[in-house]
Amino acid sequence: MNLQKCIDDLATLVAFDTTSHRSNKPLIDWVAGRLEGLGYRVMVQQAPDEDKANLFASIGPEDQGGLMLSAHADVVPVAGQNWRTDPFKLHQDAGRLYGRGSADMKGFIACMLQAAPGFAAARLKAPVHLALSYNEETNMGGMKQLAAALRDSSYTPKACVIGEPTSMQVVVANKGAAIYRFKVRGFEVHSSLRDQGVSAVEAAAQIIVRSQQIQERMRKDLRHDGFEFPFSSIHVGRIAGGTAHNITAKDCEFMLEIRALPGRAAAPFIGELKHWCEAELLPTMRAIAEPSNIEIEEITDSPSLDEQGNARLARAMMPLCACHALGRVSFGTEGGILQQVGIPTIICGPGQINVAHQADEYVEISQLKLCLDYLEHLRVQLEHDPACFF
Ligand SMILES: [Zn+2]
Repeated sequence: MNLQKCIDDLATLVAFDTTSHRSNKPLIDWVAGRLEGLGYRVMVQQAPDEDKANLFASIGPEDQGGLMLSAHADVVPVAGQNWRTDPFKLHQDAGRLYGRGSADMKGFIACMLQAAPGFAAARLKAPVHLALSYNEETNMGGMKQLAAALRDSSYTPKACVIGEPTSMQVVVANKGAAIYRFKVRGFEVHSSLRDQGVSAVEAAAQIIVRSQQIQERMRKDLRHDGFEFPFSSIHVGRIAGGTAHNITAKDCEFMLEIRALPGRAAAPFIGELKHWCEAELLPTMRAIAEPSNIEIEEITDSPSLDEQGNARLARAMMPLCACHALGRVSFGTEGGILQQVGIPTIICGPGQINVAHQADEYVEISQLKLCLDYLEHLRVQLEHDPACFF
């Protein structure tokens, strides 16, 4: 496989500004055209209410599930970040390729495109599916839509590799990712009359303190030492409310996230918080001012990836990517969504997660080379003994 062509494709992919709030269709159309030209059976799945799409392209035998390689096509915003070069123009320097999405995860898409002709020319004993999703960085709605279609299809993949940046090591587990927006409504009076008003800021503070009590219980609950932070976590990272020091705040909004360990889900934790708000906090607020309210909006709730479901796949993949130790990560991936519909999934891809989402995000050329080698080994395996994956 040609490393320079891979870099050229990455430059093209980076130049499509697929920040999550924008359409990914130009990129999807470009990839679809490339794969159709190679003889792939290409399905473009339109998002229900946005100008976005998933892509699912298959090659090889049509009568069985096969192996899916998957990437998300969207990237996080560059707004507010201080880049040294244009984030949407790939920039090469000292063995690194700089650009938004270079690591997360257009580097893997470029590698898939380089491997695509080889898969098409091979005598595959099991099919290969190349998938691209939308909105991974926001609510994972793209993969939820695609996974639902795959579950109900006659060609449900038997296994999947998501190429999120793991430095080409096999990652078998990740925590869930759930995000909630709390909107607290109080009642405005001059603060000298504080007992006649309800401060939304103070009510929000009570909810946050309550969430920290849940965190303390999480520390005594399930523990998994494969994760750097070995417990489920709950965290408030952003809050805004009030208008002046001498007015009880009418509104306060904050964002709360829950990262649940495999074996745990966010729903019971948020359910507990919601129950406490309704049964304890809200009645005290409404006793003062009837319009008081607490609204909890779920932005996303994506399940964890559990290594109970992918052990065989992980074992078969390790030698192909020269992985020595299985990894577990605390960032969310689409892997849990696929495992929920019965597709064993691991995470393995080029680049490092700690440069993802940052200014001057980059992928090392050596990582792309490792990934191309891995995909070559994968092709050989699919020609000879695909059963080892399933
Ligand atoms: Zn990613």
